Order: sequence, then structure tokens, then C-alpha cells
Amino acid sequence: MENQYVRFEQSRIHGTGGYAKCDISAGTTLIEYVGEKIDKAEATKRCEDGNYFIFYINEEWDIDGNVESNPARFINHSCEPNCETELDEDRIWVTALRDIKAEEELTFNYCYDIADFEDHPCRCGSATCVGYIVAEEHFPHVRRHRDRELAKAAK
Ligand SMILES: [Zn+2]
Repeated sequence: MENQYVRFEQSRIHGTGGYAKCDISAGTTLIEYVGEKIDKAEATKRCEDGNYFIFYINEEWDIDGNVESNPARFINHSCEPNCETELDEDRIWVTALRDIKAEEELTFNYCYDIADFEDHPCRCGSATCVGYIVAEEHFPHVRRHRDRELAKAAK
């Protein structure tokens, strides 16, 4: 399951995670995020059934990464990730966002939508964790929400 760069083992964040096997330079392509190519109708259906491994590739197609042959699905989400996913034609690659030290856990932002964000708490442990798994563009909204909740709890 592992390759030259990535090893999979018990994660400090959640379940199984991906770890750097060696020092990695920013921009390095680490692993492909493979899956089943499905159309939008099928993707919507699978999302509603609670599948959170579906990736947008274009207007017509998505990739469902919830398959045995895709160890990249074990890479955890983080609010302060060291990797990102890049789309190249209809293939998805996990690449290093910055220099990564051997043994660091690999993470990328899952870019979840804001809908039902409270169903997806984040325990990434980063200093800037917003508490929920959402795309970075939604961080301000989630932070405001969390501040309101904390203020309510303090009363
Ligand atoms: Zn987080």
C-alpha cells in the first residue's frame, strides 16, 4: 500500500493516516488519489448515503475514492495542511504544499462544503484548527459560529 514517499499507519488525528517516509520538498507529487469515475447523479446519491470520499473532477464527472485500491483516502484532513490535491485532466494527485520532514503526518484540506458542517468535527490538532472540516473559504463563517457558541456556553 505504501510507496516511495508515503507510509500508512495508526494516525494521531483519526483512524489510519499517511506519514512521510523521508524528507519531502514542496511541490513533490506524493501519491495519486484514485477511485471510481462516476457521473454527478451517482455522486449526489453516494454523498447522500454518507460517502465523503467523492472528489470533483469536472462538470460531468466525479471520482469516488472510497475503494480498496486508494490508500490516499486514509490521508487525514487538517485545517493547516502540509499537502494539497491537484487536478490534472481527470486525475487527482496529492502534492506537498511545503517542505515536509520525515515522519510528519500528511494532511490536506478536504474542502467540504459549509452545508451540515457541524456533522464533521475536526480534531486535526493544529494551532489554527477551526473545529470543523470545511474548505478554507468557509473558515471565517465557522469561526464566527464557534465564537457565538462559546459565548452562549459561557452565560
Ligand atoms: Zn482542524
